[in-house]
Amino acid sequence: MITKNPNFLIILSAPSGGGKSTILQEVLRVTDNIDYSVSYTTRKPRGAEENGTHYHFVDEPEFLSRRESGDFLETAQVFGRWYGTSISYIQSRLQAGRHVIMDIDVQGAAQIGATTIPYVKIFIIPPSMDVLRDRLVKRATDSPEEIHKRLDIARDELQYIPAYDYLVVNDRLGVAVQDVLAIIRAEENRVSRYWEPIAGFLNQERNNDQ
Ligand code: ADP
Ligand code: 5GP
Repeated sequence: MITKNPNFLIILSAPSGGGKSTILQEVLRVTDNIDYSVSYTTRKPRGAEENGTHYHFVDEPEFLSRRESGDFLETAQVFGRWYGTSISYIQSRLQAGRHVIMDIDVQGAAQIGATTIPYVKIFIIPPSMDVLRDRLVKRATDSPEEIHKRLDIARDELQYIPAYDYLVVNDRLGVAVQDVLAIIRAEENRVSRYWEPIAGFLNQERNNDQ
């Protein structure tokens, strides 16, 4: 019997307003084998965001002390605020056989790429910068100055696309969600995630022939 060992990190990055939170919520709603990594941040809650659900909101001294203690798998400063991923949460969920999905910026994704933790990196882009601007304006969570800053940074972030495994264009939401689900399914079936069980299976077949 071949069993696979398919659990890995699903890293979603996108320019702010690209749709990663929306896609991520939908992926979590329609699957039952994925957990969400709630990041730590020093930024203030926006709109209806809740502590512990959307982020762990902490002040800078607490963030830096956790960083110093080695609590984070990766950290980055984005828009002048700190963001970080809890290493203990990731380890416990992967050990429990779950995938972990996370919404992190391009700097954090590069840091995880340098570790030995299995992952797939997906970059999400809106169909155009005009659509991105419209979505940020309609989301109504950021001031006009903040939106301007986020659009400027978006242009820089697009330079990192070649470091990702997949690109998903978030035009129609349903299609983008299906694309992400298809990527996860394909990744679960990668040969590298089967290698040890297959080696065992081949040995067993060889022994049966003798
Ligand atoms: P991010 O998490 O990347 O910053 P969000 O998920 O908050 O982006 O999406 C930004 C805004 O765009 C939200 O108001 C969201 O409802 C909207 N949005 C996301 N995807 C689509 C889409 N495919 N079509 C129309 N609006 C979308
Ligand atoms: P926002 O403040 O709009 O929720 O997120 C701003 C940026 O920070 C986004 O690009 C988001 O992906 C990124 N981000 C959120 N959590 C983390 C994290 O834990 N680590 C890193 N490196 N980036 C994060």
